[in-house]
Amino acid sequence: RFISFEGGEGCGKSTQAHRLAEALTLAGHEVVLTREPGGTEGAEAIRSLLVSGDPGRWLPWSEACLVNAARAEHVTRVIRPALRRGAWVLCDRYIDSTRAYQGAGKGLDDAALTAMHAQVTRNLWPDLTLVLGLPVEQGLARAATRSRAGKAETRFEAHDAGFHGRVEAFFAALPAAEPWRCVAIDASGTIADVGRRIRDAAESWTWS
Ligand code: C5P
Repeated sequence: RFISFEGGEGCGKSTQAHRLAEALTLAGHEVVLTREPGGTEGAEAIRSLLVSGDPGRWLPWSEACLVNAARAEHVTRVIRPALRRGAWVLCDRYIDSTRAYQGAGKGLDDAALTAMHAQVTRNLWPDLTLVLGLPVEQGLARAATRSRAGKAETRFEAHDAGFHGRVEAFFAALPAAEPWRCVAIDASGTIADVGRRIRDAAESWTWS
């Protein structure tokens, strides 16, 4: 089973992915907890190209190609083999982040990005996508706290509120647009509150 975690900056998806991974491991499952861009040595090298340096370093299509190069490595070398073994794969960001950041945020065509994804992954989509939603100001405030604590590598400060608004609007609309795969998770409240909502969503999901 393949679950992706999606949402804007500071929504808490990485924390929640860890928590769900722990719970599933305790229940006796093999769990592969991974992230995008990243998840293999080569893909992590691509990630550092993406998250470091001047935010205007890459043109939108260059960024999309780098994200997809990382995904090709990740899907072929890690995700597909894990799914074939019967493991649960929990991925912190996947195709919907590409659609949100490079698509809605930077103006690339959603159908073109989706077509590229289909080629690169042989059309591998998650069985379930948890879309964590938080008002933009709350997310940015959480992310800024993390940044001041020196824990962040993100470039979020470089983007304006309009960019984050478009990204957040994409994520907010996604569960209703693609309900066969996506569930909206209210990301406000405590870590335990959000964790409970996620466990409920995963338990009540009808796996195909
Ligand atoms: O998941 P995390 O929040 O650590 O993401 C790292 C950074 O990469 C974020 O700032 C996010 O905005 C960015 N990103 C991106 N395009 C993607 C995936 C992530 O700009 N397709």
